[in-house]
Amino acid sequence: MQSESAAEPTVLIVGSGPAGLFAACELVRHGVTPRIVESRLEPHHETRGTALQPAVLELIDRGGLIEPFLDASVHIKRVHVLGPGLQQLAEMTLANIGCKYEHQCSLPQWHTEAILREHLESCGVRIEYGTQVKAIEDDPAGLRVTVEAGGREEVFTTSYVLGAGGAHSITRHSMHEHLAGDTYGGRYIVADMKHRLPYQPECGRVIVGAEGFVLVSPLPDERWLIFVNRDEADTRSELPSAAELSELLNRRAGVDLGMHDLRWASYFNMHMRAAERLSDGRRFLLGDAAHLSSPMGGEGINAAFMDAADIAWKLALVVHGSGKPALLDSYAAERGAADHHVLEVSNEIHNAVMELIAMCRDGMPTLPPADPVKGMAIVRRRSMLDVSYAGSALVGEASAAVEGPAPGERFPVRHRLSGTGHHVIVFGEAPRLDHLRARWNGLVSVVDASSEGFDASAAGVPNGGAILVRPDGFIGFRAAPADEATMAALDAHLASYLVPGSHQAV
Ligand SMILES: Cc1cc2nc3c(=O)[nH]c(=O)nc-3n(C[C@H](O)[C@H](O)[C@H](O)COP(=O)(O)OP(=O)(O)OC[C@H]3O[C@@H](n4cnc5c(N)ncnc54)[C@H](O)[C@@H]3O)c2cc1C
Repeated sequence: MQSESAAEPTVLIVGSGPAGLFAACELVRHGVTPRIVESRLEPHHETRGTALQPAVLELIDRGGLIEPFLDASVHIKRVHVLGPGLQQLAEMTLANIGCKYEHQCSLPQWHTEAILREHLESCGVRIEYGTQVKAIEDDPAGLRVTVEAGGREEVFTTSYVLGAGGAHSITRHSMHEHLAGDTYGGRYIVADMKHRLPYQPECGRVIVGAEGFVLVSPLPDERWLIFVNRDEADTRSELPSAAELSELLNRRAGVDLGMHDLRWASYFNMHMRAAERLSDGRRFLLGDAAHLSSPMGGEGINAAFMDAADIAWKLALVVHGSGKPALLDSYAAERGAADHHVLEVSNEIHNAVMELIAMCRDGMPTLPPADPVKGMAIVRRRSMLDVSYAGSALVGEASAAVEGPAPGERFPVRHRLSGTGHHVIVFGEAPRLDHLRARWNGLVSVVDASSEGFDASAAGVPNGGAILVRPDGFIGFRAAPADEATMAALDAHLASYLVPGSHQAV
């Protein structure tokens, strides 16, 4: 049976993986209730993407959800690279990375999804399981969507679709987009097991040898996520038994790892792929629907969270009539560049591991002495703290170049800003503040830096000035010094994508 229903709700989310769930959480926080459909009949119980990076923990913190993640996870503070015989080759530590969170939170993906789902349920948002989107077509009233649930077809129109359906996204297909790029050679196994090595759970390990690698990453309950490359000659389609997998891991590590209690395992391929267009103005691609990176970088699930956070505040402002279409255009520009950066970082890590394997074939690899400055830059890249939206139309400045975070970079203490609106943080005196308050009432809060204890140098205005911090905690504009001309430029910047006097609650 087919039925036509009214053009509600305004926002449809396709898929309840991490991207769809976090987008829904963020939309709700910004005052928009989406409809969210999921083709699975019920939640899955797969371990998959486990490590949440420091920059993503900040986003989760801003979303008011950090406590359950901190409680449910192990906190990974270091990663060791080990060579044959488990000899340590390198260490990456997350200490002093310039972030409130100096660790990753590691927990199974099903648990991450459960936390987000429970939050949505507590907000009255129900995920429609067993509901598959079959088609998304252009319609004069928006987008015409066909879904099938329990053998019944429903057709409705919606204003916007967030395509969070994973690698085989129907939203992406409806945009005639594909994931361009490459698939890495080889086949890989991911598993959730226990081992008998005396390892502390605050440290992940990558073990390399002449035949390949094993990645051993801690999970709660003394469990470990294991990645391993298969033997080249092994082309079986069925998964190895627990004993075969244990034997493979021991060969890769060169010692008896004592693996046991296999809970979940899967084959997977590694990709470096992205869609060329993340949006057509009404459809937006998020997470694996938009890009696939090597899990060796551990950034796939994290990029999904970042995509979700970026589109949610922009879409909410537009849905409320407070944002201009330029705001939505910026999603593809900003996340497209950031997602390509994720692919590059994951590719660097992937290639570094492959180079170490090649070196092991000639004996014990020797690495150059660690350079602390380069090392910190690598750790910050790995932690996704170096994401910058510089060059976006939503980022500007009227100031001389100075040291410190530039417009487009994250405000380093963004976790200290509350609410869902923009903030203008003023360091010292600034003109036009009453005008700003009146014109952007409800959309922008003006904050006196001295009363909040914000540091001018850390904000990129060592000699005073004003910065605009966007709802996602990124610096949108810098006015330094804060005089009539630069503050007028900040005001004009806001007017390029916000509607004055539209009074959204901050
Ligand atoms: C075996 C495996 C191991 C992995 N290991 C890691 C890792 O160690 N580290 C890491 O960072 N990442 C890892 N990943 C990747 C990580 O799981 C993904 O990056 C992450 O799940 C992306 O989230 P997403 O929400 O974009 O997509 P998904 O999690 O794929 O969610 C998409 C959802 O959309 C639903 N859906 C699809 N089509 C429709 C439709 N037409 N209608 C309704 N619903 C639909 C699907 O059922 C699914 O629930 C792994 C992935 C796999 C498969």
